[in-house]
Order: sequence, then C-alpha cells, then structure tokens
Amino acid sequence: NTQAETFEFQVEARQLLQLMIHSIYSNKDVFLRELISNASDALDKLRLEALRGTELRADTSDLHIEIEVDKEHRTLTVRDNGIGMTHDEVVGLIGTIAKSGTAEFLRELKESKDAAASQDLIGQFGVGFYSGFMVADQVTLVTRHATETRGTRWESTGEGTYTIEELDEAPQGTSVILRLKPEDTEDSLFDYTSPWKIKEIVKRYSDFITWPIRMAAESTNADADADATTDAEAEAEAEADKSQDEAGEKAGEKAGDEPRLETLNSMKALWARSRDEVSDDEYHEFYKHISHDWNNPLETIRMQAEGTFEYQALLFIPSQAPLDLFMRERKRGVQLYVKRVFIMDDCEELMPEYLRFVKGVVDAQDLSLNVSRETLQQDRQIQLMRRRLVKKVLSTVKDMMSDNAEGYATFWKEFGRAVKEGLLDDFENRDAILEISSFASTHDPERPTTLRQYLDRMKDGQQHIYYMTGESRSIIESSPHMEAFREKGYEVLLLTDPIDEMWVGSVPEFDGKQFQSIAKGQVDLDTEEEKKEGEAEREQRKKDFAELLSWMTTTLSEQVKEVRLSSRLTTSPACVVGDTHDVTPQLENMFRAMGQ
Ligand code: ADP
Ligand code: MG
Repeated sequence: NTQAETFEFQVEARQLLQLMIHSIYSNKDVFLRELISNASDALDKLRLEALRGTELRADTSDLHIEIEVDKEHRTLTVRDNGIGMTHDEVVGLIGTIAKSGTAEFLRELKESKDAAASQDLIGQFGVGFYSGFMVADQVTLVTRHATETRGTRWESTGEGTYTIEELDEAPQGTSVILRLKPEDTEDSLFDYTSPWKIKEIVKRYSDFITWPIRMAAESTNADADADATTDAEAEAEAEADKSQDEAGEKAGEKAGDEPRLETLNSMKALWARSRDEVSDDEYHEFYKHISHDWNNPLETIRMQAEGTFEYQALLFIPSQAPLDLFMRERKRGVQLYVKRVFIMDDCEELMPEYLRFVKGVVDAQDLSLNVSRETLQQDRQIQLMRRRLVKKVLSTVKDMMSDNAEGYATFWKEFGRAVKEGLLDDFENRDAILEISSFASTHDPERPTTLRQYLDRMKDGQQHIYYMTGESRSIIESSPHMEAFREKGYEVLLLTDPIDEMWVGSVPEFDGKQFQSIAKGQVDLDTEEEKKEGEAEREQRKKDFAELLSWMTTTLSEQVKEVRLSSRLTTSPACVVGDTHDVTPQLENMFRAMGQ
C-alpha cells in the first residue's frame, strides 16, 4: 500500500460538509437511506456492465447490501459488492461536488434566515453521501472498481481535508464505515448501533430496494427471525428470477457457515405491485430514492399497459422545481427498466424536454436488455409509449385543477415556465397544454387565470383573447396600450415570462378565439354600430389632423414608419406601436442576449 495523501475539499464541498456536521436537518435517520440508495445504484450499474459483456473482475452471483453494527467500537458499516469507484472517481465524486446548482443552493441557504426554510432547501437539494456526517465524526470509504485490481481508501472527519490511500487489495464494491458521534450515545432515538433501530429505518425508507439488504441476525431468537425473512427473500428472488435468468445470472447460494444474515427488506419492485397494496408513504420513499429529493412529491402517477407492448410506469411530479430546471445541462428524470433490470437514467426518449422535471420509472417487458439510446430513438413502441406517458402527465395536471386546486397552483408556480416550452414544439398536445396553463391577468392581481376562465368572462362583442408581453406586471399595467381596454372593461393577459414572447407568436388560438397583442397592429375595439356612428367624426378628425400627421411622419422618418390617429388612447397623448409581425422589444433583447 502507498502512503496516505492529504487533499483539501473543494470550497463548495467544504461548505456542504459543515452543514452536515452541524446538522440543522432534523431527521438524521435519512443518512442510512442515502447510503443504501448509493449502494443500490452501484449494484444496478454492475449488473448492467455484466449484461453488456464488459470484462469484469467481479462476481455478480450474489449482489447485495450488508449493514454491520459494531456496538463496542460504535461503528456502522454499509457495504455493497457493486461497481465500486476508481481512484479518480473517489476524488471527483466524493471530494468535489459535481452536482449542478450547488453554488446557487449554498447562496440561497446563506440568505435564508429561518431554520424551516433552510431545512426545505437542504431537502430539495438532497445531500447524498455527505449526510453520513450528520451522525459520524469520521467517515471511511474503501472501494474497488469492478474493472480494477487495486482499491482506494478515503477518510475524513469532514473538517476541510481528506486522505486518500491506494490499496493493493480490496474487496469488490464499496464499504462506508461511520464512526458514530459520541454525543448520540445517550439518546436512544439516535442509537444507530441498535439493530432494532436499523431495521426500522430500512423498513421505513428502503423496503422497495430490489437488492437484498442484510444484517447479522441478533443472537436472541435468531432462528425464528432468520426463517421469516429468508422466506421474504426467496419470494422476491423467485419473482425476479425470470429476468435474472435472461440476464444470464443465477441467484447464488449463500454460505452457510458465516454468521446468520437476515434480509431486512421485501425487495418488491414498487411499480409492479398493485396500487392498493402500496401505501402513500412507500411511494414517497421510492420517489426520494430515485429523485435524490428529500421532500415528498406533489403527485404520484401510475400506469399499467397490457397487451402487445406491456409496460408499467410509476411517475412523480415533484413539489418543488430543482434549482437547475433552466440550466442547459439539466437532465430528464425518467429511468428505463427492462423486466425489472435497470437500464438507464435520464431516458430522454420517454419524456419531452418541457416535462423534464417529471421523475420516475418505466419498466418495459418487451424490450431487449441490450437496448441502447440509438435503438430507442428509432423504436416505434417507445414513441408510442412516450405519447401515452405525456398525455397521462398532462391529464393528471388537468385533474388536479378540479380536484386539488392548491396542488395545481403549486405545480404551475414551480413548473409553469417549463411547461410553456411545450407550446413551441409539442403540436399534438398544444391544446392540452393551453388547457392546463395559467396566466397573470388584469382580472385579479392576486391570482392567475386559466384560459377557460378568461373565455367565461369575455364581454359581449369581444372577439379575441387580449394579451400584452413585458418585463413585469407593473410595467405592462402602466402602458398607454392598456387604456382603451381598461375603459372597455376587457381583460388583458399580462405575459411576463421570456418564453411567453416565443409561444404567443406561434400559437394562433385557444378554443376558437385568437390571441391578439394589444401592443401590435391596429386594435379595433369598436363594434360595427359604434363604428358607423363614429365614421363621420373620424373622417373629420383625419382631415383636421392631416397636416400635423404628415409633418410628424417626415420629421420622425428615422424613428417610425408611420404616424396615425389612435382610437386606443384615452388619456395619454401618444404611444408607439409595433407592426403586427414586428419583433417586440423584449424579444429583440432576448435575441441579442442569445448572440443572434
Ligand atoms: P448522488 O447519489 O445524488 O449522485 P451522492 O453524494 O449520494 O450523490 O453520491 C455521489 C456519487 O458518488 C454517486 O453519484 C456515485 O457515483 C458515487 N458513489 C457514492 N456511493 C457509492 C457506492 N456505494 N458505490 C459506487 N459509487 C458510489
Ligand atoms: Mg446518492
């Protein structure tokens, strides 16, 4: 073995660690869920490599997670025989925080003064591996990547530095050893050396993990306990057998003379169980496992398709937008499984970009275990599946509008800006997207309106859905363009998101009513009768002002195309209007910002 070298944590990693050490997060138990979640991911990855035929120095016959409690030395070990990490991965993944949005998260955290808000933020960000420091004053990680012979040992007290040592030998996979904080000894609530406590946490947060989570059985009643749980494992293994066989794997026999191990979880894939068998809590914990979010989801969506192309889907709408929702490298959140076997994260073939915040699992029965992104793109069944998933998500939101108005309001506040992107490229679902959209309007300064509600309030004789785009509500409201509409009592949508500029130009109508900007072209608010009445008067005014108008047109020829009398102003003397097809000032700014 080489000498241990000392490294400094990257700045952001150090700040996160400090947060965890002085843990302001009240529910410390979740550290175990996080470590198990990582172990489970590592086992998924190893199985996938084996399926792909990668040459491995690893035994994949008995993939599992093991928890070991040492009461005497007050350590807790979580061990997996999964993919492991290379030396560089340890440095890159553990010593550095590669997660996007970290800087922003830390900045917001600094700004948030009250504890509840801070907890919320941490929950939303989800601090994975580092959460071990909530309960431990030293964390040691020993790992060997499945393609390598040498291992790596990482250790830290979380105080600014960590050490790394190369090992000539190390068992396959990863062990995380926590030296539990002494101050938690007294409090039975935080006694993580109690097997009872560990069992409770695993059952509660990680029951659905599809790999066995084992722990040495207690000496008292060991027989009875071990028998009961071995049954659970046998049952779950039988269920998974079909796919395991196809994966070219066999469930290995466990050695009989080692200390008797108990399997703590039921290992049943949650999406394959019927709805009435699964509690909301279980769905929520599963959501946290796949999303790395620590908060409950806003909505759970289940789908089951039988027939020629069989699949199950379990999707979630989070309750908060991630900090990186609008960053370019942002990934999509749906995982693809084939016959219970994890195939890929971030499966963009299953969810369009505007629904990138949707998390979940899709398990297809009839795909090959060797599918690649390339084959997925061409697969007609996948395209069909995606269409159904999208429609289901949109219809779920529509149902929320009537069944859970508060939930819908949250949804729209968090994700509306992303959803509206769909108006630009998802022609098939354009109406469904408009149907679930809300907009600020002159009707109610507090609450946004749906287009349906807008249509219901339209005045007699009103032809269009009127809107104006601009930087903010107050800017739009003080615009001279608003005057005539206020006078008439016509409602105007106030569109302030940059994306609004893009879609209003390309979406012609909603339910037969056209969108009409109040700042563009000739807006004619008069009815036929009013027009006839005013005709003579207007002709006279045109004559009266003809000279002034032509003088202004010549004088301002550099600045404007034409000067004309307005019917839309009531108190302001003049205003500038765009041509119907002109680019608005906001859009001009946006194009400039994009370098076009
Ligand atoms: P996340 O799971 O959200 O990516 P974590 O902080 O929990 O963040 O883990 C960071 C990374 O470290 C993981 O993405 C993974 O690549 C690696 N890692 C953590 N634990 C393990 C493990 N037991 N086996 C292999 N890799 C691991
Ligand atoms: Mg993790």
